Amino acid sequence: MHRKVIAPSVLAASLLLVIPASAASSVPGAPGIGDSYYPTSGNGGYDVSHYDLRLKYEPKTDLLEGTATLLATATQELSRFNLDFGLKVSEIRVNGAKAKFATSGAHELEVTPTQALEKGKQASVVVKYAGKPSEFKVDGWSAWQRTPDGGVAAQEPDSAVWWFPSNDHPLDKATFDISVNVPDGTQAISNGVLQSQTSKLGWTRYNWRSNKPQATYLATLAVGKFDITTGTTASGLPILNAYSKDLGDNAGAARASVERTGEVAEWLESVFGPYPFNALGGYVPNVPSGFALETQSRPFYSPRQFANGANVSVVVHELAHQWYGDSVSVDNWKDIWINEGFARYSQWLWSEKEGEGTAQELADWTYRTRPADDPFWQVKPGDPGADNQFHGAVYDRGAIAIQALRNEIGDEKFFKILKGWPTEHAYGNAKVGDFVRYAEKVSGKPLAQLFETWLYTPGKPAFAPPSSQSPLARSSKAPAAEPVEPKSWKKIAATNSIHEH
Ligand SMILES: [Zn+2]
Repeated sequence: MHRKVIAPSVLAASLLLVIPASAASSVPGAPGIGDSYYPTSGNGGYDVSHYDLRLKYEPKTDLLEGTATLLATATQELSRFNLDFGLKVSEIRVNGAKAKFATSGAHELEVTPTQALEKGKQASVVVKYAGKPSEFKVDGWSAWQRTPDGGVAAQEPDSAVWWFPSNDHPLDKATFDISVNVPDGTQAISNGVLQSQTSKLGWTRYNWRSNKPQATYLATLAVGKFDITTGTTASGLPILNAYSKDLGDNAGAARASVERTGEVAEWLESVFGPYPFNALGGYVPNVPSGFALETQSRPFYSPRQFANGANVSVVVHELAHQWYGDSVSVDNWKDIWINEGFARYSQWLWSEKEGEGTAQELADWTYRTRPADDPFWQVKPGDPGADNQFHGAVYDRGAIAIQALRNEIGDEKFFKILKGWPTEHAYGNAKVGDFVRYAEKVSGKPLAQLFETWLYTPGKPAFAPPSSQSPLARSSKAPAAEPVEPKSWKKIAATNSIHEH
């Protein structure tokens, strides 16, 4: 998504204007949470702990009707606060009383309660709304994807404004109950556990629960006609996968990939530690877009990810995000490397395990196939800029950075870090700098220069083979052998449309 980025200094100045030190105790909340790439994402002044969404969706007309109940705690005395939302609102109640509201900007909903919210107290906010998500546009574009039999909300960095009002930034995570009423014969897929399903007068209601903190962009909804498969992991977690009945030639490859979710998650647990959520699965709707996304506990996969046959690598990538991205989320969107660098590196580790090329071989090949004058090397994975947030360099140069770390500190410390980090920041947020400090702490080595080189310095850095391997390589292969393309290379490259739209 391309938005106009306001320089952080301008934003800071405007915040100072609305919150003077001498103001009365009750003031409006800021219209943004303070993200340097997306100044209007999220809002200031409160923290949401739970969303209860009660929705009804008619696939024929794309009409979505909803009642959203948010439980939020004010973090300041609050005379007014913003929600991020795009559909038409008919009524808002705060602590039971009707509130005034107005819209502004691309997706701001300004709510003025009859009584100011007290700092530290929980408030309930009930929003009633209806609209056609495909008709709501930001910069001429809608994240809601219509399908022949329904619609899908799955997009990064945001999709929430198309289907529920929220504090739309990963800094404010909450638990979710998502209940969706759809015509009989149609399914509604969302996050977490399917608690129950009831039919009445030609409509079926699906009740989903995601009981661990979840970022708003990781909430997902897919309505359509699906084939559902279910299972249970060795540790007892429910698995639920959903495949559009209309996947055509990609149906077999999609199932042959996503049905391996439990197996992949079990392997990831051996690398990253215990799986952080209450359910597992994936869904493949009949959408035209080509990307995949790590929607919490139930990733979204475009059928095009399976156009060339089974693709377990994309499943590895999206499931790795459940630890790196979903449980431990970005603090600011500029921290995207702590999501994508590690999700890409997990694909390299899977290749290593499968005997299809080691992470070092993939790093070497990635490094070698990008000449020094390739603009790829100008993108800084540690702060790529909003326009380059999902640039290939964040993934590939970002993953070489991780291999460089592994070579610097050795496998024992390296895998200790990979497993320790998701526990250190479980269900929270982190910055790139937090990772650097954590890696230094666990390894006992100064690493600032390594990360400065790989994450923050434009240009192609030197990339030496691991010191433990180089003497052997020199003695056994003189002159140095030409690297060969790792067997997994093309499969991993085929997942490169991840997160693009
Ligand atoms: Zn990713």
